[in-house]
Amino acid sequence: MDMNIVELENYFVSLNEKKFKALQVFEWLYIHREKDINNFSNLKKELRDKLKNDFKYDFITIKKYETGKDVKKYLFELSDHNYVEAVLMYHDYGKSVCISSQVGCNMGCKFCESGRLKKVRNLETYEMVEQILLIEEDIKDRIQRIVIMGIGEPFDNYDNVINFLRIVNHPKGLGIGARHITVSTCGLVPKIKEFSDLDLQVNLALSLHAPNDTIRNKIMPISKVYTISQVMDAIKEYLAKNNRRVTIEYVMLNMVNDSDECAYELASLLKGLNVYVNLIPYNETNNLDFKKSQRINEFKDILLKMGINATVRREFGGSISAACGQLRSKEV
Ligand code: SF4
Repeated sequence: MDMNIVELENYFVSLNEKKFKALQVFEWLYIHREKDINNFSNLKKELRDKLKNDFKYDFITIKKYETGKDVKKYLFELSDHNYVEAVLMYHDYGKSVCISSQVGCNMGCKFCESGRLKKVRNLETYEMVEQILLIEEDIKDRIQRIVIMGIGEPFDNYDNVINFLRIVNHPKGLGIGARHITVSTCGLVPKIKEFSDLDLQVNLALSLHAPNDTIRNKIMPISKVYTISQVMDAIKEYLAKNNRRVTIEYVMLNMVNDSDECAYELASLLKGLNVYVNLIPYNETNNLDFKKSQRINEFKDILLKMGINATVRREFGGSISAACGQLRSKEV
C-alpha cells in the first residue's frame, strides 16, 4: 500500500469514517506485518472490501541473496518481473539497509555499475517499504538505519521517495528515526531545494565526486545540466534552512579525481560549510575502466589539514558486488 498516514486519514474521512482507522491500518501493515486485508479484524467487512478495491496491495519477493563479511545482498523480484537489489550491512552501531529507488537509472554516472541499465521505471512506495520489511523478516530483527543509495536516483522519483520516508519514519509505520535515514542525490538542483523545505529531519548526502565541472563532466553527465556552482548554491540553501550536516560523497578514482590539486580545490569549495566528506574506495568491476585510487589517505590528510571533516568509508561487500555503485537490477 502506497499511502502515508495523512493520505490514509484523508481517505477514511472521505468515506465518513474516523481518522484513527488510518492508524489501525498502519498497525496491521507495519507492526503486525499482516499481509491479508481480510485479517484486519478491527475493520468491518465492507471497509476491508473497499480497501481491497481502492488500493494496490501487491508484494515483492526475495529472489535470492548472497552473503559476505558483515553484509548480505538481496535480489528482489517485483510483481512485473523487474528486479532490484538492496544491501544489509552490519555495523558496530547496528544494522543498516541500502535500498533501491528505481529499476535502472538515467543519470549515467560513468563509474557506476547500477546506472548501466537505463531507467525502466520508478519504484512505487510500497516496493521500497517492502525491501525493508522483507529484510527484517529474513533476519528476524529490526534494522536501525536506512540509506537510499542503491539503484536509482532518489530525487528522480521524488514523490514516492518522500512518501516512503513518511511511512518508515512514522511511529506506527517502521518507527525509524529521521536522523537515521539518509537520502543521496547526484545533484538534482530543483529537488534539493524542494527537499530543503521538507518537514522531516532526514539526512542529505550529495554525490559530488569531483571538485570542478571539468572533471565532473567527464564522470557525471548530470553535471552538464547543473553545474557545481548551482549544486553548491542549492546545498547552501539547504544548510541555511536546516541545522543538519550534509555528507559529501566522493568516490576515489585513480588518476581522475584523486590528485593533491583536487583535494585542495575540494577543500576550498567546501570551506566554511557544515559538511563532511565521505571518501569512498572505488570498487573495481570487470565492466568499467576505472581503477581504485591508492591515494585515499593522502587525499584525506589534505582535507583535514585544510579544516574539512573527512572520513574513509568502510568497504562492504566488494566480493559479492554489493558495494557502492555495484548494484545491478539484473536477473542472476
Ligand atoms: S551513481 Fe547513483 S545516480 Fe549515478 S548512475 Fe549510479 S545509481 Fe544512478
